[in-house]
Amino acid sequence: MLGRIVEPFRKAFERAAVGMALVDLEGYPLETNPALREMLGYGAGELRGMVFTDFTHPEDATVDMSLYRELLAGEREYYQMEKRFLKKEGGLMWGRLTVSLVREESGFREDGSPGRPLFAVGLVEDITARKEAEEELRLRERAITATHNGIIVTDARAGDDPIVYVNRGFERITGYSAEEVVGHNARFLQGGDRDQPSLDELHKAIRENREWSGMFRNYRKDGAVFWNEHNVSPVYDEEGRVVNHIGVVNDVTERKKLEDQLTHRALHDPLTNLPNRVLFVDRLGQALARGAGGRLDGRVAVLFMDLDNFKYVNDSLGHEVGDRLLVKLAGRIREVLRPADTVSRLGGDEFAVLLEEVSGSEEAIRVAERMADKLKTPFMLGEPPQEVSTTLSMGIVVVTPEIEAASGDDGPRDLLRYADLAMYEAKRQGRSRHAVYEGSMSRKAEARLALDGDLRRTIDGTEGRLRVYYQPQVSLESGLTVGLEALVRWESPERGLVMPGAFIPFAEETSLIVELGEQVLRQACRQAREWRRQGLGPVPVWVNLSSLQLREPNLPALVSEVLRETGLSAESIGLEITESVLMEDGADNIARLEKLKSIGVKLAIDDFGTGYSSFSYLKRLPVDYLKMDRSFIDGLGRDAADTTIVSAILGLARGMKLEVIAEGVETDRQLAELKELGCKMGQGYYFARPLPARSISVGLPGDLRTNLDHPDSYPLAGVE
Ligand code: C2E
Ligand code: CA
Ligand code: CA
Repeated sequence: MLGRIVEPFRKAFERAAVGMALVDLEGYPLETNPALREMLGYGAGELRGMVFTDFTHPEDATVDMSLYRELLAGEREYYQMEKRFLKKEGGLMWGRLTVSLVREESGFREDGSPGRPLFAVGLVEDITARKEAEEELRLRERAITATHNGIIVTDARAGDDPIVYVNRGFERITGYSAEEVVGHNARFLQGGDRDQPSLDELHKAIRENREWSGMFRNYRKDGAVFWNEHNVSPVYDEEGRVVNHIGVVNDVTERKKLEDQLTHRALHDPLTNLPNRVLFVDRLGQALARGAGGRLDGRVAVLFMDLDNFKYVNDSLGHEVGDRLLVKLAGRIREVLRPADTVSRLGGDEFAVLLEEVSGSEEAIRVAERMADKLKTPFMLGEPPQEVSTTLSMGIVVVTPEIEAASGDDGPRDLLRYADLAMYEAKRQGRSRHAVYEGSMSRKAEARLALDGDLRRTIDGTEGRLRVYYQPQVSLESGLTVGLEALVRWESPERGLVMPGAFIPFAEETSLIVELGEQVLRQACRQAREWRRQGLGPVPVWVNLSSLQLREPNLPALVSEVLRETGLSAESIGLEITESVLMEDGADNIARLEKLKSIGVKLAIDDFGTGYSSFSYLKRLPVDYLKMDRSFIDGLGRDAADTTIVSAILGLARGMKLEVIAEGVETDRQLAELKELGCKMGQGYYFARPLPARSISVGLPGDLRTNLDHPDSYPLAGVE
């Protein structure tokens, strides 16, 4: 057959870069050139005896075959298709195939009928690379259209950076259709709300061709606001010029709402909705800073107020009446003050007022007198309503240069303490009166000194001791214990068994906590090893970490050392760190936690919901567990708002792949509600109180049983 091909053509056939084949009318290759054999991985002569459909992907073979028949029938002069070839060693090659027919006389005979077909010529180009690129592009395009986030592409070369593309996610989030927005600058999304600091950052980043992420308010077509966590990045051409900007719109409104709610809660007293101690101290700090440099003299005053008969009201008329009294009292205090003054409920029946721009102690005293006047009218409370009278004892501190100098680094807290001392003085003088702070009120200072000495002696091992109690964390599904939290108590010869609330905050102020925390860690690890030796299943022991410990550079080394000493595996230990601590100095904490994480210990965020939550930040922390603060569990089953918040937190945690432990579960109802909402783990008096180690004894592997005859033991869930 080749003999029929004239020499130059034969050379071309042999050397061509494209694959070529001469195929007989039945579809058997008569000749194939080296290029084609190379593409398909066959040696010379190996294709002989095969029909072309033998090396064609079955899905393409039918089309190929029917086109070939049409060619032979004279219905077409040639055909082209893109098809998959099967290689000899397996695998596919995408080829672009052109097949034409060679006839006895080329062209048509004189009578117009075509000449008799002799054979077909097939040309094959390898287009695998292009096909793969196309496939990838198609995939990417599908991903972009389908993604939940909104995507905006703008033309950076045109004057006003107009939008050239938006995806469906954008249309869904904003309510605008692609036609409505293409050609416009994306700033219409901000409506008139241009005065947002993060927008300036965005524009700066765009000007400087930097990638940027941040959050700002945007508006939907219907005018509704939404929070956009936006990411923008420049796209360059080959010469390094920015040709496009790609923006990713992430609607985080729900998350932001929850964050705001949590922040509000963290800073306010739920009963009266007044600022709490944290916010008060913060505002006082700001007031002091504003007045720094001598301008403060006598202009800032703090009033510390305490109800004289609150315990009596609570005990005789019940908690509900007590609560109502606090709410109404808060209202009356407000009436006496100017809008700029801050009133705070510090806790229980203690309130504090921050007065700014007063003229001196006389004015502060007048405010206290007006407050006392306000209480002369009794409150009407209860069902049926009855008169309830109450009085306040008030302590006043006016910030003078001397007082400012005497108060330490912790100015605001010290001032609050001075006002508190003055309030005690007022009580001592017979209640229902006020006293102004003078430097000599050092009763509390002495008490602190004594506490400091006692605690140091215990930590030294001279007298008293630290005892670690353990509270089970329980699987709500199985009722089995899945963890134990180590909670320290102080056995002091002078004071008896002291609860952490009475010495941990103090230990933190005086840095004793670092040494104390280390002792707790060692004790807990030794105990965990002992339980392990007794055959207790893999139940981790969780230890609380204070912010000062977290800041200790050698904490990771300490943890590793204690693990090595006790021969415990890292996953038998968990560390709990409160949310407020984690929010304090952001970036550093990530590195600190990464270090701990790399040892292999588990990490939990404690008291979640009481700090200033930022979920964007939280997402970056390498933690595995989130402990939902007791204050949220408290209202479950009673307060619909709490149910909503708990459910939102659980949803968020699921999204962030965090396990949630509900703290402070006390009732059946809370448990039922938590299960209903999909919470998996709980801790609280409902299951067990914190118990001494000896009351927690070993049962089946993975299970824990308490020694039920022990006086301070409580039955664990799941135990008969
Ligand atoms: P926390 O870490 O939030 O520990 C939980 C506290 O809630 C414990 O109080 C526990 O007894 C209490 N609790 C558990 N279930 C319930 C419940 O159902 N209802 C109520 N009302 N309370 C419940 P505890 O033992 O008095 O500890 C208080 C705090 O002291 C701890 O709060 C923790 O922040 C701190 N603390 C305790 N031990 C240590 C320690 O070794 N190191 C550090 N840095 N802090 C510790
Ligand atoms: Ca804890
Ligand atoms: Ca907690």
